[in-house]
Amino acid sequence: MNISESKKLFERAVRLIPGGVNSPVRAFKAVGGSPIFFKRAKGAYLFDEDDNKYIDYIGSWGPMLLGHAYPKVIEAVQKAAADSTSFGAPTRREVELAELILDMVPTIDKIRMVNSGTEACMSAIRVARGYTGRNKILKFEGNYHGHADSFLIKAGSGALTFGTPSSPGVTPGTAADTLTARHNDLEQVKGICAENGSEIAAIILEPVTGNMGCIPPEPGFLEGLRALCDEHGIVLIFDEVMTGFRLARGGAQEIYEIEADLVTYGKIIGAGLPVGAYGGKAEIMNCVSPDGPVYQAGTLSGNPLAMAAGLALLSDLHANPQIYTELDEKSAYLEKGLRQVLDKIGEEYTINRLGSMINIFFGSHKVKDYDTASKIDAERIKDYFHGMLHNGVYLPPAAYETWFVSNAHTYEDLDATINATEQALM
Ligand SMILES: *Cc1c(COP(=O)(O)O)cnc(C)c1O
Repeated sequence: MNISESKKLFERAVRLIPGGVNSPVRAFKAVGGSPIFFKRAKGAYLFDEDDNKYIDYIGSWGPMLLGHAYPKVIEAVQKAAADSTSFGAPTRREVELAELILDMVPTIDKIRMVNSGTEACMSAIRVARGYTGRNKILKFEGNYHGHADSFLIKAGSGALTFGTPSSPGVTPGTAADTLTARHNDLEQVKGICAENGSEIAAIILEPVTGNMGCIPPEPGFLEGLRALCDEHGIVLIFDEVMTGFRLARGGAQEIYEIEADLVTYGKIIGAGLPVGAYGGKAEIMNCVSPDGPVYQAGTLSGNPLAMAAGLALLSDLHANPQIYTELDEKSAYLEKGLRQVLDKIGEEYTINRLGSMINIFFGSHKVKDYDTASKIDAERIKDYFHGMLHNGVYLPPAAYETWFVSNAHTYEDLDATINATEQALM
């Protein structure tokens, strides 16, 4: 495979940008080799600078639920751009997107748009602190909520991949206000709440984790957290930046029938443009400026291009709920095919999947938290990743990331992926 253009660009990039990339996981450090530079994508396919074609399983890490360059999204963005790219003043599309989201997620009374998932989570905990008058937050090991200081304590995603789950540059004071617990371990959370319950403003989690691979909640875990939050007056925050509008129109809240107090979004709601949002109960959201004293603002928040893109994508999801059935069927087909191939080869593996979030862990033990996720065979992942790349399949270049199936993937694409897996691991 010729990737000479990508290599040339990377040589230029490393002189200019830390690690040559604007977000760490892109650099291929976890899997080795030189990162691929892309110039365009359509549907389920990526095309790199050397014109190689790949079946894509990162989908920009989530937003491309219906595939790249989705015609309605592109058209909406072009139309919006012609009317100016930003106003710094209210616009119709912000109202329409808020109405649409509130209609799809009935547990939310009010929502505020920001520019990234990081910003959404950072703002949500500030609001929870303002609302409760408490300082501490509780998060779970291996969960990723963006790169704000409070969250870079035992974090997942790139932080986990690069062995810095707790980052330098986060002050001891901030770190002391972030409590951590083992994911899926309700008993441990009960213990922490019994000791510190009255100091904890919020419990934040990925209800279905995607940032240490796909890890669904153990039965009773989410219910137990809801009950503990009620008991101790703690704000329950579901970080649905990844799961929102992916698992169902109402995200994990809908699937597990649990109402969080605040929810954060990103990724899909921007359809590939930079957007995040946080929303929830009116009583809490009324604390946000200018209604209340908790300050949060943004020059480009509610940006017209981003709102137009989100509206176009979410309108389709709203109108066509069978998209979720199709996504689940395709992902189940992929899971079944992968299992057959891995069994045939005699590979030690675990596959976790929920809806269109799926990934292989190389190790036969059950993966349900950070400790079990980090016990996988990291060398095997490297071989697999490069084998797949060579066979035209682009997987996340890391061991601790879920793959994203899109509705643009055809059954032929899934078959090709299954065949590539056999080739890559033989
Ligand atoms: C991606 C992600 C974030 C961070 O969003 P950014 O837009 O990258 O800042 C936060 N939480 C979860 C669960 C995510 O998957």
